[in-house]
Amino acid sequence: MHRIVTLIPGDGIGPEITASVKRIFSALDAPVKWDEQKAGLPALQDHGELLPKSLFESLANNKIALKGPITTPVGEGFKSVNIQLRQHFDLYANIRPCKSVDAIPTRFQNVDLIIIRENTEGLYSGLEYVDERLGIVDSICRITLKGCDRIVRAAFEYARSNKRRKVTLVHKANILKQAGAALLNAGKAISKDYPEIVMEDLIIDNMCMQLVTKPERYDVILTTNLFGDILSDLAAGLVGGLGVAAGANIGTDIAIFEAVHGSAPDIAGRGIANPTALLKSATMMLHYMGETVIARRLENAIDLTLRNKDQCTADLGGKAGTEEFTSNVIRNLERDAIGVESIINH
Ligand code: NAD
Repeated sequence: MHRIVTLIPGDGIGPEITASVKRIFSALDAPVKWDEQKAGLPALQDHGELLPKSLFESLANNKIALKGPITTPVGEGFKSVNIQLRQHFDLYANIRPCKSVDAIPTRFQNVDLIIIRENTEGLYSGLEYVDERLGIVDSICRITLKGCDRIVRAAFEYARSNKRRKVTLVHKANILKQAGAALLNAGKAISKDYPEIVMEDLIIDNMCMQLVTKPERYDVILTTNLFGDILSDLAAGLVGGLGVAAGANIGTDIAIFEAVHGSAPDIAGRGIANPTALLKSATMMLHYMGETVIARRLENAIDLTLRNKDQCTADLGGKAGTEEFTSNVIRNLERDAIGVESIINH
């Protein structure tokens, strides 16, 4: 049985890295049929709108998507298409694992943390008001108690089902006394239902310092929308960069899987983008679909590829382009098939 999955290539490096995932999924014989949809500027060109009706219908029907990055103009222009999708489908939990890979030399070799970011509220609410006469700009950080409760619950549930020991709740409740306290109070109340998991809290500035000096101390990091966005890029830098950082946007019954990185306009169209982050997001998607064996085969093939620097893309110090990297992963899938089958048979 094939599952129909919405595929949004996005723009910038998006089409290059989604082509890589498509090739690898064919080689894997993964039980997925892609329903390709445009969003953002490519959709505006073709359909006259950034978020066409057909995209919403596809997502509502399929309930699962793999998405490439989509450019958002800076300081002007349209509201982020990424945020509109997360808010429209209420994808409130953004889950971003960050784990050291033996083969990628970085300052720390023992990072294994998960950032769980509230994905629909806070400073991403899109509530901004300008009073030109008075020269005042208000950007509203809207937090709801329901939103706090459900993201805290999601983080503790994640920790429990993944046998994690500690949740670090990150806030700025010393300054944002109301918004910060709302999340913190939800954490203090809900953590009582999870006695096996330690909860601690840290102020965001301290968290940044701790992460760049002792990242191995952290396990699950639970935080607000903006802080989670910033910490995700920081944590990606600890394990090899944005080229390897995966993520998932999870709602009640719809999930969109996408890399942490953006559309990387500085390297778009040059055939050198690293598809690993989107591939790892695709493995998260396979796990979500219950396709554990295929997900593990893909994870192992990615690991084998990363172990050989020459097989990697330039951001990891290698010489391979996106397509060559993709061929290397496919070759390693074949090598690894023997290993996975022997695991299954014994
Ligand atoms: P970016 O993440 O696109 O790129 C930052 C740096 O990392 C660049 O030097 C880029 O070349 C490098 N990089 C990123 N992904 C890479 C990959 N797979 N392989 C190799 N190198 C990679 O951040 P930016 O340049 O600040 O943002 C560009 C655009 O992307 C903006 O319009 C932003 O709004 C958008 N954006 C979209 C998403 C999303 O679609 N979810 C997320 C973040 C940013």
